[in-house]
Amino acid sequence: MTNQSSIIIAIDGPAASGKGTLAKRLANFYDFSHLDTGILYRGVGWLVLAADGDPRDEETATRVARDFSLDRLEQADIRNADVARAASIVAAMPGVRAALLDFQRQFAKSPPAGYFGAVLDGRDIGTVVCPDATVKFYITASPEVRAHRRWLELRLSSPGISEEEVLDSLKRRDARDSGRDAAPLRPAKNAELIDTSALTADEVFSRARRIVDQKIKNLPQQD
Ligand code: C5P
Repeated sequence: MTNQSSIIIAIDGPAASGKGTLAKRLANFYDFSHLDTGILYRGVGWLVLAADGDPRDEETATRVARDFSLDRLEQADIRNADVARAASIVAAMPGVRAALLDFQRQFAKSPPAGYFGAVLDGRDIGTVVCPDATVKFYITASPEVRAHRRWLELRLSSPGISEEEVLDSLKRRDARDSGRDAAPLRPAKNAELIDTSALTADEVFSRARRIVDQKIKNLPQQD
């Protein structure tokens, strides 16, 4: 499949909304490549922390983002709460976002050989990274439901962590992600909204699949 004809699915939404699960399932189903763009910001945050740096130091974070490559993250524990916080701090810096933009656009435009399209999930995929995506989703859920889901994951690696703590840090991260000037978290104008608060992963997937199938059916035919 050529670059021009590859299909792009953009999925945005707040933490623990279910967007990652949906992205993986759609990529698997349609045989598309998948990029969880949160890994890039977590990666920069982790590299800054691992070098004893301060994520609030814009010069350091921007330098790390410019040198960033995914293979630098082998063995990195990027899923913990400290890295999530550092990620959302560095993600508010325009220099960090600019340094990571090209990689995301290239990934979307040129899926690896054998894939027919790409699914990217994050906060600004439909609004900034791929404004011309074939399909855009905005996946959300109530803060309480999201905190409960995240707590179920985190308590395995951080026994003793309370649901209130998780809710609190999730709300702070939401506020930073939505309140920043650079590519704030918000639905793209033409995004399909799905609130997953009362839905199972299977229900979210089948809703999204119907929407994607419809969009693909309506695409202009290529010679
Ligand atoms: O999705 P995840 O929780 O891994 O993202 C970590 C942080 O990275 C988010 O809180 C957000 O600040 C940042 N991020 C972003 N833009 C993206 C993906 C993630 O700003 N496209």
